[in-house]
Amino acid sequence: MYPMNANTLQLALFGDVPAFEKPLHTNQPYSAAPQQFFNHVEQCFDRGWFTNDGPLVRELESRISRFLGVEHCVAVTNATLGLQLLMNALELRGEVIVPSFTFVATPHAVCNSGLHPVFCDIDPDSWNMDPGHCASLINEKTSAILSVHLFGRPCDTHRLQEIAQDHNLKLIYDAAHAFACSHTNKKIGGFGDAEVFSFHANKFFHTIEGGAITTNDGELAQRLRLDRNFGFVGIDNVESLGTNAKMSEVHAAMGLSNLDLLDDTLGRCRDVYQSYADGLRDIPGVTIRNYDAQGDSWNYQYVVAEIDEQLNGIPRDLMVDILCAENVIARRYFYPGCHRMAAYAAPRFQRCLPITEKVADRVIVLPGGAAMNAQSAREICSLIQYTVDHAAPILERVSKIDGAWRVTT
Ligand SMILES: *Cc1c(COP(=O)(O)O)cnc(C)c1O
Repeated sequence: MYPMNANTLQLALFGDVPAFEKPLHTNQPYSAAPQQFFNHVEQCFDRGWFTNDGPLVRELESRISRFLGVEHCVAVTNATLGLQLLMNALELRGEVIVPSFTFVATPHAVCNSGLHPVFCDIDPDSWNMDPGHCASLINEKTSAILSVHLFGRPCDTHRLQEIAQDHNLKLIYDAAHAFACSHTNKKIGGFGDAEVFSFHANKFFHTIEGGAITTNDGELAQRLRLDRNFGFVGIDNVESLGTNAKMSEVHAAMGLSNLDLLDDTLGRCRDVYQSYADGLRDIPGVTIRNYDAQGDSWNYQYVVAEIDEQLNGIPRDLMVDILCAENVIARRYFYPGCHRMAAYAAPRFQRCLPITEKVADRVIVLPGGAAMNAQSAREICSLIQYTVDHAAPILERVSKIDGAWRVTT
């Protein structure tokens, strides 16, 4: 057993060598098929076709729409632009209801579309938009609900659809985390008026940078295709205020090679997740979240732990600092909640969001995803266990100064 002497704590925070030589990030890019990628890129050179609705983008779109069981897939530069393109094409006005507990791109896309984000609280169980709170925020200025399948957990699509219908609102989803996830035995991608995926390098499936809008609405898809290319219809006829949100052939090449790896990616994510689930099961005060439910399936990309105050007195932020010192780059996603970020400090964005704040103060996202490995996950669990077991001597040597934990002795 480890000695309990405060001076011999085997932690990098106190000067020991880090447990890992190189930083382990949450969701490091995964790509195991360089040769397939190079082969696809070679075709671009052969054709001399590198962007503007090329054959690789088309192939990627058709494979994705088949995989997701949705009629249309419109590939774009990234999800943030995809959300903006979509809100523009839907001709939204006024206010859009969004969760605050999300990556900041969600409300940023609303603002950058000339709309006003109204922050909604989350459900304490799912951590997704609380439909009841959402309904209470609707007024005559509301034009849409933009909900997020956070960490790949599907939203309450049924209730949100009812609310949207009752109030004649558009319903769109930020599905950045939810590629290959299903809800009610249907893949995410076909819910609401449209859904937007991110294919950024640290997402479950990626094209380095990229994204896609999926929808079963053919007219909307057509408008999105024109709008991602400045609104051009034909050679010199521009019918709408579009932008440049095209995906390049080289990005599509990465997508095509990664699409072939999807089963392998999922298997790796699941193994890493399972390793954490086993390792954390017996640590009181740490709960690892699982989003496999009846009729739902999950991609296991995010390893999300909830830390309660009973973690032997170790506060969440101190645990994060201890892990980071060991090169385990744990993150407080999505702390502090967008409504508490400087960009949204203006009174018009402020709301009382008690569940969001409570969850944001407890969450730790651990390094997960297909680029991680199960052995490192086990070692991280041991580190957490060690920290909890040695809480008393650790707490003797640290103090919170100006909101940050510092080693004091
Ligand atoms: C990553 C992410 C985005 C932004 O995606 P990009 O493709 O990088 O623009 C949007 N929303 C959420 C929830 C994300 O995690």
